Amino acid sequence: MAADFDTRVRGLADDRREALVRWRRDLHRHPELGFEEHRTAAIVESHLRELDLEVHTGIAGTGLIGVLRPAGSDEPAVLLRADMDALPIQEVSGRDYGSTIEGRMHACGHDGHTAMLLGAAEVLCEMRDALSRPVVFCFQPAEEGLGGGRRMVEEGVLDIVPVGAVYGLHLWSLEPAGRILVRPGAFMAAVDSFQARIVGRGGHGALPHESRDPIVAAAQCVTALQTIVSRTIDPVQPAVVTVGELHAGTATNIIPDDARMTGTLRSFDDRVRQTLRTRVRELLEATAAGAGCRAEVTIHEGYPAVINSTEAARIAREAATMTVGEDSVSEPPPIAASEDFSYFLRERPGAFLFLGAGNEELGITAPHHSPEFDIDESVLPRGSEMLARLALHAECPR
Ligand SMILES: [Zn+2]
Ligand SMILES: [Zn+2]
Repeated sequence: MAADFDTRVRGLADDRREALVRWRRDLHRHPELGFEEHRTAAIVESHLRELDLEVHTGIAGTGLIGVLRPAGSDEPAVLLRADMDALPIQEVSGRDYGSTIEGRMHACGHDGHTAMLLGAAEVLCEMRDALSRPVVFCFQPAEEGLGGGRRMVEEGVLDIVPVGAVYGLHLWSLEPAGRILVRPGAFMAAVDSFQARIVGRGGHGALPHESRDPIVAAAQCVTALQTIVSRTIDPVQPAVVTVGELHAGTATNIIPDDARMTGTLRSFDDRVRQTLRTRVRELLEATAAGAGCRAEVTIHEGYPAVINSTEAARIAREAATMTVGEDSVSEPPPIAASEDFSYFLRERPGAFLFLGAGNEELGITAPHHSPEFDIDESVLPRGSEMLARLALHAECPR
Protein backbone atom coordinates (compact mmCIF):
# COMPACT_ATOMS: atom_id res chain seq x y z
CA MET A 1 0.00 0.00 0.00
CA ALA A 2 2.71 2.47 1.03
CA ALA A 3 4.71 2.12 -2.19
CA ASP A 4 1.59 2.58 -4.27
CA PHE A 5 0.68 5.67 -2.26
CA ASP A 6 4.14 7.14 -2.74
CA THR A 7 4.01 7.05 -6.51
CA ARG A 8 0.39 8.11 -6.78
CA VAL A 9 0.54 10.99 -4.34
CA ARG A 10 3.34 12.69 -6.26
CA GLY A 11 1.46 12.43 -9.54
CA LEU A 12 -1.84 13.58 -8.08
CA ALA A 13 -0.18 16.60 -6.48
CA ASP A 14 1.61 17.53 -9.70
CA ASP A 15 -1.66 17.24 -11.62
CA ARG A 16 -2.92 20.13 -9.50
CA ARG A 17 -0.04 22.49 -10.27
CA GLU A 18 -2.11 24.92 -12.34
CA ALA A 19 -5.11 24.80 -10.02
CA LEU A 20 -2.88 25.50 -7.02
CA VAL A 21 -1.39 28.58 -8.68
CA ARG A 22 -4.87 29.74 -9.75
CA TRP A 23 -6.28 29.35 -6.22
CA ARG A 24 -3.30 31.01 -4.61
CA ARG A 25 -3.40 33.98 -6.98
CA ASP A 26 -7.13 34.44 -6.54
CA LEU A 27 -6.69 34.50 -2.76
CA HIS A 28 -3.66 36.76 -3.14
CA ARG A 29 -5.72 39.29 -5.10
CA HIS A 30 -8.40 39.30 -2.39
CA PRO A 31 -6.65 39.35 1.00
CA GLU A 32 -8.78 39.49 4.14
CA LEU A 33 -7.71 40.33 7.70
CA GLY A 34 -8.17 38.06 10.72
CA PHE A 35 -11.77 37.03 11.49
CA GLU A 36 -12.87 38.78 8.27
CA GLU A 37 -12.01 35.91 5.92
CA HIS A 38 -15.59 35.64 4.59
CA ARG A 39 -14.77 35.41 0.89
CA THR A 40 -11.86 33.04 1.53
CA ALA A 41 -13.96 30.79 3.77
CA ALA A 42 -16.78 30.70 1.21
CA ILE A 43 -14.35 29.58 -1.51
CA VAL A 44 -12.88 26.92 0.77
CA GLU A 45 -16.35 25.73 1.77
CA SER A 46 -17.50 25.34 -1.82
CA HIS A 47 -14.37 23.33 -2.69
CA LEU A 48 -14.84 21.07 0.33
CA ARG A 49 -18.50 20.50 -0.56
CA GLU A 50 -17.59 19.74 -4.20
CA LEU A 51 -15.33 17.02 -2.81
CA ASP A 52 -18.31 15.67 -0.89
CA LEU A 53 -16.56 16.09 2.46
CA GLU A 54 -18.38 16.54 5.74
CA VAL A 55 -18.14 20.30 6.32
CA HIS A 56 -18.40 22.21 9.61
CA THR A 57 -18.40 26.02 9.35
CA GLY A 58 -18.43 28.89 11.83
CA ILE A 59 -15.68 27.55 14.09
CA ALA A 60 -13.98 30.61 15.60
CA GLY A 61 -16.08 32.82 13.35
CA THR A 62 -14.77 32.33 9.84
CA GLY A 63 -12.95 29.04 10.50
CA LEU A 64 -14.10 25.75 9.00
CA ILE A 65 -13.14 22.13 8.56
CA GLY A 66 -13.72 19.40 6.01
CA VAL A 67 -13.66 15.79 7.19
CA LEU A 68 -12.65 12.87 4.98
CA ARG A 69 -13.73 9.56 6.50
CA PRO A 70 -12.37 6.35 5.02
CA ALA A 71 -14.89 3.54 5.11
CA GLY A 72 -14.94 1.51 8.32
CA SER A 73 -12.21 3.39 10.20
CA ASP A 74 -12.58 4.02 13.92
CA GLU A 75 -9.07 5.43 14.27
CA PRO A 76 -8.52 8.94 15.65
CA ALA A 77 -8.18 11.54 12.91
CA VAL A 78 -5.14 13.45 11.78
CA LEU A 79 -5.72 17.18 11.50
CA LEU A 80 -3.95 19.25 8.84
CA ARG A 81 -4.14 22.99 9.39
CA ALA A 82 -3.83 26.02 7.08
CA ASP A 83 -4.32 29.63 8.15
CA MET A 84 -6.27 32.01 5.89
CA ASP A 85 -5.66 35.59 7.05
CA ALA A 86 -3.71 38.43 5.44
CA LEU A 87 -1.92 41.48 6.89
CA PRO A 88 -2.52 45.24 6.96
CA ILE A 89 0.33 45.96 4.51
CA GLN A 90 0.33 47.80 1.16
CA GLU A 91 1.79 45.44 -1.45
CA VAL A 92 4.42 46.70 -3.91
CA SER A 93 2.84 47.63 -7.23
CA GLY A 94 3.36 45.97 -10.60
CA ARG A 95 2.31 42.40 -9.96
CA ASP A 96 -0.50 41.11 -12.15
CA TYR A 97 -1.64 38.90 -9.26
CA GLY A 98 -1.11 41.67 -6.69
CA SER A 99 -3.60 42.61 -4.00
CA THR A 100 -6.66 44.49 -5.26
CA ILE A 101 -7.43 45.77 -1.78
CA GLU A 102 -5.76 48.93 -0.53
CA GLY A 103 -3.57 48.34 2.52
CA ARG A 104 -4.18 44.58 2.65
CA MET A 105 -1.76 41.90 1.55
CA HIS A 106 -1.05 38.21 1.86
CA ALA A 107 2.47 38.95 3.08
CA CYS A 108 2.98 35.76 5.09
CA GLY A 109 2.01 33.12 2.53
CA HIS A 110 -1.29 32.09 4.09
CA ASP A 111 -2.87 32.27 0.60
CA GLY A 112 -0.44 29.51 -0.36
CA HIS A 113 -1.25 27.53 2.80
CA THR A 114 -4.96 27.59 1.97
CA ALA A 115 -4.33 26.56 -1.64
CA MET A 116 -1.96 23.74 -0.64
CA LEU A 117 -4.43 22.29 1.86
CA LEU A 118 -7.23 22.37 -0.72
CA GLY A 119 -4.85 20.54 -3.04
CA ALA A 120 -4.10 17.96 -0.34
CA ALA A 121 -7.85 17.46 0.19
CA GLU A 122 -8.28 16.72 -3.52
CA VAL A 123 -5.32 14.34 -3.56
CA LEU A 124 -6.51 12.43 -0.50
CA CYS A 125 -10.10 12.20 -1.76
CA GLU A 126 -8.75 10.32 -4.76
CA MET A 127 -6.72 8.11 -2.44
CA ARG A 128 -9.22 7.48 0.33
CA ASP A 129 -8.71 3.73 -0.07
CA ALA A 130 -5.13 4.17 1.13
CA LEU A 131 -6.16 6.01 4.32
CA SER A 132 -6.60 4.17 7.57
CA ARG A 133 -7.93 7.13 9.57
CA PRO A 134 -10.10 10.20 9.05
CA VAL A 135 -8.45 13.42 7.94
CA VAL A 136 -9.61 16.82 9.19
CA PHE A 137 -8.74 19.65 6.79
CA CYS A 138 -8.69 22.65 9.12
CA PHE A 139 -8.87 26.20 7.72
CA GLN A 140 -8.08 28.63 10.51
CA PRO A 141 -8.81 32.36 10.71
CA ALA A 142 -6.73 35.09 12.31
CA GLU A 143 -3.27 33.65 12.90
CA GLU A 144 -1.60 37.08 12.78
CA GLY A 145 -1.80 38.14 16.42
CA LEU A 146 -5.51 37.58 17.03
CA GLY A 147 -5.32 33.97 18.19
CA GLY A 148 -7.71 32.28 15.78
CA GLY A 149 -5.99 28.99 16.55
CA ARG A 150 -6.71 29.36 20.23
CA ARG A 151 -10.39 30.04 19.52
CA MET A 152 -10.68 27.04 17.21
CA VAL A 153 -9.26 24.78 19.91
CA GLU A 154 -11.49 26.35 22.58
CA GLU A 155 -14.52 25.85 20.35
CA GLY A 156 -13.77 22.15 20.10
CA VAL A 157 -12.18 21.69 16.68
CA LEU A 158 -10.20 18.73 18.02
CA ASP A 159 -13.35 16.90 19.14
CA ILE A 160 -15.87 17.30 16.30
CA VAL A 161 -14.11 14.23 15.00
CA PRO A 162 -11.72 12.91 17.68
CA VAL A 163 -8.29 14.13 16.55
CA GLY A 164 -5.16 12.16 17.49
CA ALA A 165 -2.41 14.15 15.79
CA VAL A 166 -1.98 17.62 14.31
CA TYR A 167 0.29 18.98 11.59
CA GLY A 168 0.85 22.44 10.17
CA LEU A 169 3.03 23.62 7.29
CA HIS A 170 4.31 27.18 6.79
CA LEU A 171 5.86 28.50 3.61
CA TRP A 172 9.18 30.19 4.37
CA SER A 173 10.70 32.67 1.92
CA LEU A 174 14.07 32.82 3.68
CA GLU A 175 14.83 29.21 2.67
CA PRO A 176 15.29 28.04 -0.94
CA ALA A 177 12.19 26.66 -2.63
CA GLY A 178 11.62 23.00 -1.91
CA ARG A 179 13.59 22.66 1.30
CA ILE A 180 11.67 21.30 4.28
CA LEU A 181 12.68 22.24 7.82
CA VAL A 182 11.51 20.22 10.79
CA ARG A 183 12.82 19.74 14.29
CA PRO A 184 11.66 17.90 17.41
CA GLY A 185 11.01 19.90 20.56
CA ALA A 186 10.93 23.69 20.80
CA PHE A 187 10.73 25.27 17.34
CA MET A 188 9.17 28.74 17.73
CA ALA A 189 9.06 31.04 20.73
CA ALA A 190 6.39 31.94 23.24
CA VAL A 191 5.67 35.66 23.11
CA ASP A 192 4.33 37.86 25.89
CA SER A 193 4.47 41.61 26.31
CA PHE A 194 4.30 44.04 29.18
CA GLN A 195 3.19 47.62 29.70
CA ALA A 196 4.17 49.63 32.74
CA ARG A 197 3.28 53.06 34.04
CA ILE A 198 5.70 54.37 36.65
CA VAL A 199 3.73 56.83 38.74
CA GLY A 200 5.58 59.53 40.67
CA ARG A 201 4.75 63.09 41.61
CA GLY A 202 5.58 65.86 39.20
CA GLY A 203 7.09 69.20 40.05
CA HIS A 204 9.79 71.79 39.35
CA GLY A 205 13.04 70.42 37.93
CA ALA A 206 15.02 72.57 40.37
CA LEU A 207 13.16 71.24 43.43
CA PRO A 208 13.50 67.44 43.15
CA HIS A 209 13.06 67.00 46.89
CA GLU A 210 9.43 68.13 46.48
CA SER A 211 8.75 65.48 43.80
CA ARG A 212 8.92 61.73 43.19
CA ASP A 213 10.84 61.49 39.93
CA PRO A 214 9.40 58.76 37.66
CA ILE A 215 12.18 59.21 35.09
CA VAL A 216 14.91 58.16 37.50
CA ALA A 217 12.67 55.30 38.65
CA ALA A 218 12.03 54.22 35.03
CA ALA A 219 15.75 54.30 34.25
CA GLN A 220 16.43 52.05 37.24
CA CYS A 221 13.60 49.77 36.09
CA VAL A 222 15.13 49.35 32.63
CA THR A 223 18.45 48.42 34.16
CA ALA A 224 16.86 46.09 36.71
CA LEU A 225 14.99 44.22 33.96
CA GLN A 226 18.32 43.33 32.35
CA THR A 227 19.16 41.18 35.35
CA ILE A 228 16.26 38.78 34.72
CA VAL A 229 17.91 36.90 31.86
CA SER A 230 21.44 37.26 33.23
CA ARG A 231 20.70 36.36 36.88
CA THR A 232 17.40 34.45 37.04
CA ILE A 233 17.21 32.24 33.94
CA ASP A 234 19.25 29.07 33.46
CA PRO A 235 22.03 30.13 31.07
CA VAL A 236 21.36 27.19 28.72
CA GLN A 237 17.74 28.32 28.24
CA PRO A 238 17.09 31.00 25.61
CA ALA A 239 15.13 34.04 26.78
CA VAL A 240 14.73 37.67 25.76
CA VAL A 241 13.58 40.71 27.74
CA THR A 242 13.50 43.82 25.58
CA VAL A 243 12.22 47.25 26.62
CA GLY A 244 10.90 48.61 23.33
CA GLU A 245 9.34 51.89 24.42
CA LEU A 246 10.12 54.47 27.08
CA HIS A 247 8.22 57.75 27.21
CA ALA A 248 8.28 60.51 29.78
CA GLY A 249 8.47 64.25 30.21
CA THR A 250 7.78 67.44 28.26
CA ALA A 251 10.44 70.03 29.13
CA THR A 252 13.95 70.48 30.57
CA ASN A 253 12.81 71.87 33.89
CA ILE A 254 9.75 69.76 34.69
CA ILE A 255 9.68 66.51 36.61
CA PRO A 256 6.73 64.67 35.05
CA ASP A 257 4.00 62.80 36.90
CA ASP A 258 4.67 59.48 35.21
CA ALA A 259 6.76 57.47 32.75
CA ARG A 260 5.55 54.68 30.49
CA MET A 261 7.34 51.70 29.04
CA THR A 262 6.51 48.57 27.05
CA GLY A 263 8.52 45.51 26.18
CA THR A 264 8.49 42.02 24.75
CA LEU A 265 9.32 38.68 26.39
CA ARG A 266 10.41 35.62 24.38
CA SER A 267 11.04 32.11 25.63
CA PHE A 268 10.80 28.46 24.59
CA ASP A 269 10.08 26.76 27.91
CA ASP A 270 6.94 27.12 30.03
CA ARG A 271 8.83 27.52 33.29
CA VAL A 272 11.13 30.15 31.81
CA ARG A 273 8.09 31.91 30.40
CA GLN A 274 6.41 32.02 33.80
CA THR A 275 9.61 33.25 35.46
CA LEU A 276 9.92 36.09 32.95
CA ARG A 277 6.38 37.25 33.60
CA THR A 278 6.67 37.01 37.39
CA ARG A 279 10.05 38.70 37.62
CA VAL A 280 9.14 41.55 35.28
CA ARG A 281 6.22 42.44 37.52
CA GLU A 282 8.16 41.99 40.78
CA LEU A 283 11.17 44.00 39.65
CA LEU A 284 9.14 46.86 38.20
CA GLU A 285 7.02 47.16 41.33
CA ALA A 286 9.94 46.85 43.76
CA THR A 287 12.30 49.11 41.81
CA ALA A 288 9.68 51.81 41.40
CA ALA A 289 8.85 51.58 45.11
CA GLY A 290 12.53 51.90 45.96
CA ALA A 291 12.58 55.18 44.08
CA GLY A 292 9.51 56.44 45.89
CA CYS A 293 7.19 55.76 42.96
CA ARG A 294 4.60 53.12 42.10
CA ALA A 295 4.48 50.78 39.07
CA GLU A 296 1.23 49.76 37.38
CA VAL A 297 2.16 46.67 35.37
CA THR A 298 0.11 44.78 32.80
CA ILE A 299 1.36 41.54 31.26
CA HIS A 300 -0.26 40.57 27.96
CA GLU A 301 -0.22 36.86 27.22
CA GLY A 302 0.75 36.06 23.63
CA TYR A 303 1.11 32.73 21.85
CA PRO A 304 2.79 29.82 23.63
CA ALA A 305 5.90 28.21 22.17
CA VAL A 306 5.58 25.81 19.23
CA ILE A 307 6.73 22.48 20.65
CA ASN A 308 6.91 19.56 18.21
CA SER A 309 6.57 16.05 19.59
CA THR A 310 9.58 13.84 18.97
CA GLU A 311 7.54 11.13 17.28
CA ALA A 312 5.55 13.49 15.05
CA ALA A 313 8.75 15.29 14.04
CA ARG A 314 10.25 11.92 13.05
CA ILE A 315 7.17 11.06 10.98
CA ALA A 316 7.28 14.51 9.37
CA ARG A 317 10.94 14.08 8.56
CA GLU A 318 10.24 10.77 6.84
CA ALA A 319 7.37 12.29 4.87
CA ALA A 320 9.59 15.25 3.97
CA THR A 321 12.36 12.95 2.76
CA MET A 322 9.87 11.18 0.47
CA THR A 323 8.59 14.53 -0.77
CA VAL A 324 11.79 16.48 -1.50
CA GLY A 325 14.65 14.02 -0.92
CA GLU A 326 16.99 13.64 2.03
CA ASP A 327 19.37 16.40 0.91
CA SER A 328 16.58 18.95 1.02
CA VAL A 329 15.42 18.15 4.55
CA SER A 330 17.12 19.76 7.52
CA GLU A 331 16.72 20.38 11.21
CA PRO A 332 16.74 24.14 11.85
CA PRO A 333 17.64 25.85 15.11
CA PRO A 334 14.66 27.29 17.01
CA ILE A 335 13.51 30.71 15.83
CA ALA A 336 12.17 33.51 18.03
CA ALA A 337 9.12 34.23 15.85
CA SER A 338 5.80 32.82 17.04
CA GLU A 339 2.77 30.93 15.65
CA ASP A 340 -0.62 30.12 17.10
CA PHE A 341 -0.49 26.54 15.84
CA SER A 342 1.06 26.14 19.29
CA TYR A 343 -2.48 25.94 20.74
CA PHE A 344 -3.14 22.80 18.68
CA LEU A 345 0.20 21.35 19.76
CA ARG A 346 -0.63 21.95 23.42
CA GLU A 347 -3.62 19.63 23.09
CA ARG A 348 -2.37 16.91 20.74
CA PRO A 349 0.99 15.51 19.61
CA GLY A 350 2.07 16.86 16.27
CA ALA A 351 4.56 18.96 14.38
CA PHE A 352 4.85 22.31 12.67
CA LEU A 353 7.25 22.58 9.75
CA PHE A 354 8.54 25.03 7.17
CA LEU A 355 8.55 24.59 3.42
CA GLY A 356 11.16 26.80 1.74
CA ALA A 357 9.60 29.13 -0.85
CA GLY A 358 12.41 31.56 -1.70
CA ASN A 359 14.21 31.74 -5.03
CA GLU A 360 17.16 34.09 -5.53
CA GLU A 361 17.16 33.68 -9.32
CA LEU A 362 13.55 34.82 -9.45
CA GLY A 363 14.25 37.65 -6.99
CA ILE A 364 12.05 36.06 -4.33
CA THR A 365 14.05 36.89 -1.23
CA ALA A 366 11.90 39.36 0.76
CA PRO A 367 11.13 38.32 4.32
CA HIS A 368 7.65 37.58 5.62
CA HIS A 369 5.54 40.64 6.53
CA SER A 370 7.36 42.76 3.93
CA PRO A 371 5.52 44.66 1.12
CA GLU A 372 7.75 42.76 -1.34
CA PHE A 373 7.05 39.33 0.11
CA ASP A 374 6.35 36.61 -2.45
CA ILE A 375 6.68 32.87 -2.85
CA ASP A 376 8.04 30.63 -5.57
CA GLU A 377 4.76 29.03 -6.63
CA SER A 378 6.54 25.95 -7.96
CA VAL A 379 6.59 24.64 -4.37
CA LEU A 380 2.80 24.55 -4.04
CA PRO A 381 2.42 20.95 -5.35
CA ARG A 382 5.18 19.85 -2.97
CA GLY A 383 3.22 21.40 -0.10
CA SER A 384 0.07 19.50 -1.07
CA GLU A 385 2.09 16.33 -1.44
CA MET A 386 3.74 16.82 1.95
CA LEU A 387 0.40 17.37 3.69
CA ALA A 388 -1.10 14.30 1.99
CA ARG A 389 1.87 12.19 3.06
CA LEU A 390 1.52 13.39 6.64
CA ALA A 391 -2.09 12.20 6.61
CA LEU A 392 -1.04 8.75 5.45
CA HIS A 393 1.96 8.38 7.71
CA ALA A 394 0.71 10.09 10.86
CA GLU A 395 0.42 7.81 13.81
CA CYS A 396 -2.34 8.81 16.17
CA PRO A 397 -2.10 7.59 19.76
CA ARG A 398 -5.49 6.76 21.21
ZN1 LIG B 1 2.98 36.07 9.61
ZN1 LIG C 1 2.28 33.07 8.92
